[in-house]
Amino acid sequence: MTILVTGGAGYIGSHIVQGLVDRQQPVVVLDNLSTGFRHAVPPEAPLIVGEVGDEGLVSRLLSEHRIEAVMHFAASSVVPDSVTNPLGYYSNNTVSSLALLKSVVAAGIKYFVFSSTAAVYGNPDNQLVAEDQIARPMSPYGASKLMTETMLRDIASASSLKYVILRYFNVAGADPKLRTGQSTRAATHLVKVAVQAALGIRAGMDIFGTDYPTPDGTCVRDYIHVCDLVSAHIEALAYLRGGGNSATLNCGYGHGYSVRDVVDTVRRISGTDFAVAERSRRAGDPASIVADTRAIRRVLSWTPAFDNLEAIVQHALAWERKLTAQNR
Ligand code: UDP
Repeated sequence: MTILVTGGAGYIGSHIVQGLVDRQQPVVVLDNLSTGFRHAVPPEAPLIVGEVGDEGLVSRLLSEHRIEAVMHFAASSVVPDSVTNPLGYYSNNTVSSLALLKSVVAAGIKYFVFSSTAAVYGNPDNQLVAEDQIARPMSPYGASKLMTETMLRDIASASSLKYVILRYFNVAGADPKLRTGQSTRAATHLVKVAVQAALGIRAGMDIFGTDYPTPDGTCVRDYIHVCDLVSAHIEALAYLRGGGNSATLNCGYGHGYSVRDVVDTVRRISGTDFAVAERSRRAGDPASIVADTRAIRRVLSWTPAFDNLEAIVQHALAWERKLTAQNR
């Protein structure tokens, strides 16, 4: 009953692999190490270095390891990069996923858990965005993930494949035991950038856009601790194994923080008053996006354990300190 985790050497994937290993679930990792790290994969999980789009390799892996379920994380995930490099995003996210799905269907795999994103919604009209809201992505990143969702739904309805699509809101934080964390080079995501500014790894940071129609003019996001995302995946797989129907579920907490809230929290927790410059808006950013979490709480037995921005920041800071000490 082995699980194949694509992108298992990356930030989110490595936390999931660790979570599966912690629960004694057999797991195999496929990662091309373009942004992931060998050291992020726990020793209990074999790492195969290769491409998700390599149908020969994937088909071999699926049969040799008798894979029961695939969790698909391998993807590019930086909104502004997708705006400047749409070809790269459609190719790495959508085309590769199509190749993976071909192999999955040919091998008769039962369960597929797909790492999707709140970026599929674009700039929603409602305060809280529910799964049935019309998806109008504002970036090639969001569009590339939405296309994969569509392919997966169509393929599942014409085969025996069952899926859970998890639409992540803003994932941050690190394993509290610091076995893995976000090691991404040239990081762009807010919590990581702010933590690096607090630790003096960068001279300061920018706030992109202070004229949004939000309470303090900066963008509002629903930040979810990576460990709560792990438990959502574990519960999603348990749900499918228990005979659950295919489902699309938001992964967030249901409340938002502005960019300024995050900066202030990082300043407070780190005790450092790092420099912050106010800049113009960044391409592809919706003003506010916060999850309606009723569906995931109803469908899965999921109870978040880290619904607390301070805990997210504390764990992100602790991981960044560890990384810095290692790289010295
Ligand atoms: N952001 C910022 N400064 C940074 C990085 C991000 O002001 O150095 C803002 C960004 O414009 C967005 C929010 O923080 O409004 C979250 O961005 P992030 O890249 O972390 O995640 P996204 O929501 O794009 O997936």
